[in-house]
Amino acid sequence: MFEDLIPELQPFASALVSAAGAAGLTPRVTSTRRSRATQARLYRRFQAGKSAYPAAPPGTSAHEYGYAFDMVTEPMEALADVGQFWESLGGVWGGRNRDPIHFEFPGFEPPTLSTGEVSESSLASFAADIGLGFVPVYGTVSTVAGLATLFPGLSQIEALKMLASPTHYYNMLRRLMTAYGY
Ligand SMILES: [Zn+2]
Repeated sequence: MFEDLIPELQPFASALVSAAGAAGLTPRVTSTRRSRATQARLYRRFQAGKSAYPAAPPGTSAHEYGYAFDMVTEPMEALADVGQFWESLGGVWGGRNRDPIHFEFPGFEPPTLSTGEVSESSLASFAADIGLGFVPVYGTVSTVAGLATLFPGLSQIEALKMLASPTHYYNMLRRLMTAYGY
């Protein structure tokens, strides 16, 4: 169940589930490592107000790097005790941040993505996710109409700014990707 997590976390994760089970709390692990696409979907759900628990923007969740898992108990109120136990083991508990089902290995730092790091593959995934039937490649879009095809809803002035400089292009792209919850 925990083989996707970083090796350092695995024994602690197993120990937590065992302890919760021994306490009669019927623990159930609901999430371990996540793909970027899954995180993007959860983040969109969260942004749409459809999620009971917070979700980090894709690329920044500890789940995507194998540093965290989610676990529920019966009753759910017992998560406060389980969280305290997790912290006593040295772990980071999400209950301090409105995410009581989240159990994380200490020391995780989300990577900071600079604007220049928007890769062709993430751009392609983004385009696929918002329903475009082609793979855009940076540098091939050179007209306002082309950008409008790429980003429905993009204003003409925004498109012109994007075309005026690659920096604007990346900033705008990242803003749009954020707006789309990607
Ligand atoms: Zn979590």
